[in-house]
Amino acid sequence: MWKLKSSSLDPAVLPVEESLYTLANGYLGIRGCFEEGYPQQYASIRGNYINGFYDLVEAKYSEKLCGFPEVQEKMSNLIDAQTIEIYLDGEKVSLFNGNHGNYKRTLHFDEGYSERSFEYHTQMGKNAFISFRRMVSFQVKELFLIEVQIKYEGQIVVKSYINGDVSNYTDDFDPRVGEHAKLLDWKSSSLVDEVYMAVTARTKTTDFEIGCVVHHHCSDENALTSIEGVHAPEMKVTYSTSGNITLMKYSAYTDSRYDQEPVVHRGLNIIKKHSAMCFDEHLEMQILYLKSFWNNSDIKIYGNDLIQQGVRFSLFQLLQSVGKDGLTNIAAKGLTGEGYEGHYFWDTEIYMLPFFELTQPQIAEKLLIYRHNTLNQAREEARVLGHKRGAKYPWRTITGRECSTFFPAGTAQYHINGDIAYGFIQHYLQHGDLEFVCKYGAEVIFETARLWLEIGHFHDGKFMIHNVTGPDEYTCIVNNNYYTNVVARYNLEWAVRFYELLLQKKPRVLAEIIQKIHLVEFEVEEMVKAYQNMFLPYDEVLKIFKQDDSFLEKAIWDFQGTPENKYPLLLHYHPLTIYRYQVIKQADTVLAHFLLEDFAKEESIKNAFNYYEKVTTHDSSLSSCIYGIMASKCGYYEKAYDYFLETVRLDLDNTHGNTKDGLHVANLGGTALSVIFGFARYRIKSEGITLSPWCPKTWSGYEFRVLYRGRQLGVKVSDSVKIELLEGEKLQLKVYGLQYELETVLRIPLERLNENDQSSNI
Ligand code: BGC
Repeated sequence: MWKLKSSSLDPAVLPVEESLYTLANGYLGIRGCFEEGYPQQYASIRGNYINGFYDLVEAKYSEKLCGFPEVQEKMSNLIDAQTIEIYLDGEKVSLFNGNHGNYKRTLHFDEGYSERSFEYHTQMGKNAFISFRRMVSFQVKELFLIEVQIKYEGQIVVKSYINGDVSNYTDDFDPRVGEHAKLLDWKSSSLVDEVYMAVTARTKTTDFEIGCVVHHHCSDENALTSIEGVHAPEMKVTYSTSGNITLMKYSAYTDSRYDQEPVVHRGLNIIKKHSAMCFDEHLEMQILYLKSFWNNSDIKIYGNDLIQQGVRFSLFQLLQSVGKDGLTNIAAKGLTGEGYEGHYFWDTEIYMLPFFELTQPQIAEKLLIYRHNTLNQAREEARVLGHKRGAKYPWRTITGRECSTFFPAGTAQYHINGDIAYGFIQHYLQHGDLEFVCKYGAEVIFETARLWLEIGHFHDGKFMIHNVTGPDEYTCIVNNNYYTNVVARYNLEWAVRFYELLLQKKPRVLAEIIQKIHLVEFEVEEMVKAYQNMFLPYDEVLKIFKQDDSFLEKAIWDFQGTPENKYPLLLHYHPLTIYRYQVIKQADTVLAHFLLEDFAKEESIKNAFNYYEKVTTHDSSLSSCIYGIMASKCGYYEKAYDYFLETVRLDLDNTHGNTKDGLHVANLGGTALSVIFGFARYRIKSEGITLSPWCPKTWSGYEFRVLYRGRQLGVKVSDSVKIELLEGEKLQLKVYGLQYELETVLRIPLERLNENDQSSNI
């Protein structure tokens, strides 16, 4: 199953499909809108985006207190080059009023393009066949291609547009969507060398320039009739012909953020270089790129096509979303929509980075380098918050500046520091790359660790962290959130470990870092004391770690009395009402038990799962995958599979109802993790790797590859577990708790499911 297919023209589905059929390459993203558009009354978010291309808007508050962000960054919609209209003997082709048949659209995960085709019957009773193919190139990041093929015995007129007058999408009723419409001003339109159309625009406040240079190639060389709109916001080219034609539209998006060369000039060079190739030639290059991606990153599911489709869709969209230049990251919605305004969150380190670490570490490195590149802003943010030393990473951002205006569920999530540190530590554990630690990791880890010393304090000999918010945004500003305290502990402990490691192996590098950040010996001693005495709130009766000091003292939310249509709660209840109850938006303590399982006993992990599950709404899409992974760990097989089903098709089935605003990319990452960390129970620790796979009964097996310290391992789980060393030196690993040496291939019988899940029929 390498494809997503649809033949729906349902107006409610179209905006959702715009997100699903997005084509992107980590730099440029084009939503899957119809070239010819829909009727006016149908909702559409005609979006084109560049990762990290943003404008600033004033942050709005009725009462603005000290240290609140003054401005917010917001990803801007771009010049639109999607529009192409077709007229057959004067009749405008539309899938909504004409007679048509055989309509289908397909997204090809393996080949990286989409196509849409249909038969069209004119009112005069003549038949046409029309097809579109689109691609956003992985090889030339600025390039967006559309190919139109029309077969028709009669007059064909094609009008192709570039529109420089665009707005962002707004929704007054959804806080997860922004409210500023106009971020980009059209600047110029011109015709270069009589054939290249160029439109430029600038963001209102940041004054970034965007250029879109377009070139067309029509199979009928005499078809060009006019080019209009020179000096107007919208340019249009018209072709008129008869019989069959193929029209290629090459668009290059260039922007001024990191390049001095004028955008049009750069766009022209790109277009001139790449418009000699037809669609199929570009496709060949695209397939080459994707072959190498899938070779390392595919997760094969045997025996269930719908699941396989969901998994591959997720992996493909992750690749499409990820910034690969160290200057950009992965937005919560990737480049598929405007939800969360193009911001990067902790979603990256905890949900998406692990997939790249496991299968594409060169991309993972870029994500971490982005954090290193924004360390100065994090230092500034720490000062704004009143901390004398260390760095505080922003809860949501594009450039590294804090953009959260609702601090209880934003800035207060200090755990992001620990999450980022966790990402760097995992990178080291998986790839053993000390150079990377020297260049990037150590500085980030020291600076984030320092901040815990700033916000924590000793009480009765225990190190406590007060007034923070954990991952659960339905419980805000609390003392000793377990999740925060464990990631802080890990961050502090590894700061000390790296300090000692560098002291031993790279003393000169350590000396340079110490000098640069003015780290003193005493701080390292403070770190040791803090992590060794970190307070972790525990309930002796329930035998679970408490989500925070007061969580278990609250009344339990009235779940029975809450109708289905009141979810997600955040859209229907005042936050204070929600905060007063035991009600959880997303995995919090349960997530901590996944990331750092050795900090708790098996029994308390299981107890925590049982307890917290009952009060978790999963209103955030970051929840079900973690509960699934932990259900696997606890041996709740049926549950694990149910959570996985919720995860794997969340966007494909629009189960959260807001896929139109963009895909839930953290959940897409969660899909990959559900198989590898969930079903295969793969873990990476200081001591090495461990696995304990099980296989859902309705599948005949699954298979994936992972990289570990210069090796590539192939894991296939069916009626046995086959682990193959595809590359690199032999290694020791643990399977079902037993130590093995992997030299070429290991074959181990699949362990029978244990009895934890009595009702299991998986
Ligand atoms: C979640 C956050 C997440 C954000 C962006 C929110 O709904 O609660 O944990 O970072 O979405 O995905």
